[in-house]
Amino acid sequence: MEEFINELPKLAKEVEKENQKFFYKLKKRTPKNLDYIMQELHEDEFSKTDCLACANCCKTTSPIFTNADIARISKHFRMKEHQFISQFLYFDEDNHYVLQSAPCHFLGADNECMIYDVRPKACREYPHTNRKKFHKISEITMNNISICPATYNIVEKLKTVIASKAKR
Ligand code: SF4
Ligand code: SF4
Repeated sequence: MEEFINELPKLAKEVEKENQKFFYKLKKRTPKNLDYIMQELHEDEFSKTDCLACANCCKTTSPIFTNADIARISKHFRMKEHQFISQFLYFDEDNHYVLQSAPCHFLGADNECMIYDVRPKACREYPHTNRKKFHKISEITMNNISICPATYNIVEKLKTVIASKAKR
């Protein structure tokens, strides 16, 4: 897994142009059953993926913290929301609260999330590969391909599935 994670940025770069074209076409001609295909690919990949052996998302990027996330996690720590924000977050150029530093402060040495039950919604949904209307989040996905080995594999498989459907 570690070797694959280290290779990911290079692998992602190699397929970047191909993926741009692929997602452009996917938006133009979206299969009616895309949600179903993504659900299957996502479930299959994550049945084989051990996120605890990876945690590359938690180590390298920050989730967005919504107001509801901040309220829930502050309460968990019995902190005032403004204290939580000043200790862990900043307001980025896209007007989102994100972590001040990476790896995530709440990532344990064993790759377990120390706030798993109250973690941000964005963490629960990452990497969004089972999201409905998947073709509409191609920019996020293109970015995640260089971070998340599961996303890389899912998109590679999706390209094969769509190519085989086109031949029929
Ligand atoms: S809150 Fe938990 S799941 Fe989210 S980035 Fe931090 S360690 Fe990972
Ligand atoms: S979601 Fe992706 S990047 Fe995050 S731990 Fe799982 S495989 Fe790794």
